[in-house]
Amino acid sequence: MKRYLALFIVIMLGIQVSSAQQIIRRDPLISSMVGEISHDSIEAYIQKLVSFHTRHNLSVQDDPDIGIGAAWNWVKKEFEKYVPGSGARLSVEFVNYTVGGEGQRMEKETELRNVIATLKGTNPEDDRVLLISAHLDSRVEDNFDSTTFAPGANDDGSGVAAIMELVRIMSAHEFPVTIKYMILTGEEQGLFGASAMADIASEENWNIVALLNNDMIGNSGSSGTLLNDNMRVRVFSEGVPAFETEQMARMRSYTAGENDGNARQLARYIKEVGERYVDQLDVTLVYRNDRYGRGGDHTPFCRKGFTAVRICEFNENYHRTHTTPGERDGIMYGDLPEGVDYEYVRKNAGINLATLANLALSPGQPVNAGIVVSGLSNSTTLRWEKPETGKEPAGYYILMRETHQSMWQKKLFVTDTEVTLPYSKDNYFFSVQSVDSEGHESLPVFPGPARRIR
Ligand SMILES: [Zn+2]
Repeated sequence: MKRYLALFIVIMLGIQVSSAQQIIRRDPLISSMVGEISHDSIEAYIQKLVSFHTRHNLSVQDDPDIGIGAAWNWVKKEFEKYVPGSGARLSVEFVNYTVGGEGQRMEKETELRNVIATLKGTNPEDDRVLLISAHLDSRVEDNFDSTTFAPGANDDGSGVAAIMELVRIMSAHEFPVTIKYMILTGEEQGLFGASAMADIASEENWNIVALLNNDMIGNSGSSGTLLNDNMRVRVFSEGVPAFETEQMARMRSYTAGENDGNARQLARYIKEVGERYVDQLDVTLVYRNDRYGRGGDHTPFCRKGFTAVRICEFNENYHRTHTTPGERDGIMYGDLPEGVDYEYVRKNAGINLATLANLALSPGQPVNAGIVVSGLSNSTTLRWEKPETGKEPAGYYILMRETHQSMWQKKLFVTDTEVTLPYSKDNYFFSVQSVDSEGHESLPVFPGPARRIR
């Protein structure tokens, strides 16, 4: 058995009776960026987005003040303000695409635009890309009504405002890894803008680490059940992946990895890192890709095999979603700014910033991670190779949990690339992540089967 150094058990997570305290170490840079997120600027962004009257996908594109064209022009100009402060590492572009046509859901062929801000990574050897998205378009009940007031303050003004705030803050700092901030259109008519981007990413072989899709992150009260809670946010992640080859399916079945796909690893990571930096917010993992009968812009990326999740408020107000504004039978309808809890958006923007920054500063993931499955033993041997991208890791975290647990329960630091632990592989799930000397972790890798001899 190869000797290993378990330097310390960093974190005891999960609901464990009388567990040790959790050690929280915050990177001062990430902490200060999270602290810069402003309730007031989020409110100002959302008020401005609502002022375009409607951002329906078929609304006017050539009016300076009204419609989706005015909205995407404004977002692009806002992003461009931060180009000088970034030392020109930030670039902003429209990505145009055509949707609709005769016999399709959108009968009129229309050209739409996504607004993409790219903060180029400072390490030219590192091709990793991090993505964050929200959608600009809005709607009312009738999905083809392109002229009625459709404020879209929460759906998805909240997500757009959060991303605009992140560009403002993050573009002044350097990260080795490239971050793309995507303001997408075409969502309400069929996830068209996201599909266009997923196609480009796939054709151009982007090395995407993660996509964080933010859609409705500002409503804190539920309709009907009248709950009120701005201390909880959901992260939706697929279990069985939308993209899976026969071989991947066989491996999933063999390793019992149905709860450990890439999206789920990302969801757990967001919970751990988000809660590390944002106070008074619990990240609730929802083990499904999205809500019943609803979709989001992460899904076209999942279908292409990319790691993508949706971040969404915990409680929804159906009176305010996709409805025409106005009071009827004593109930206020419409997705108006009055329905947005700006403090909640601020906190939700915080978990996005913390996750992106921590990933952008982390070494790449370990490669060829394997769990030795030959022979019978009550110990478990794991081994892996150092990452192919990014800086040299200071070491690795071995994550472990009992098979029925949702979150990792133990986190061990090792410096070797092989470890044997006195825990049975049959009773626990394991994974491995790279970590640098400041504690920035990569996403975990769930090991495949490996033989004893290297
Ligand atoms: Zn939406």
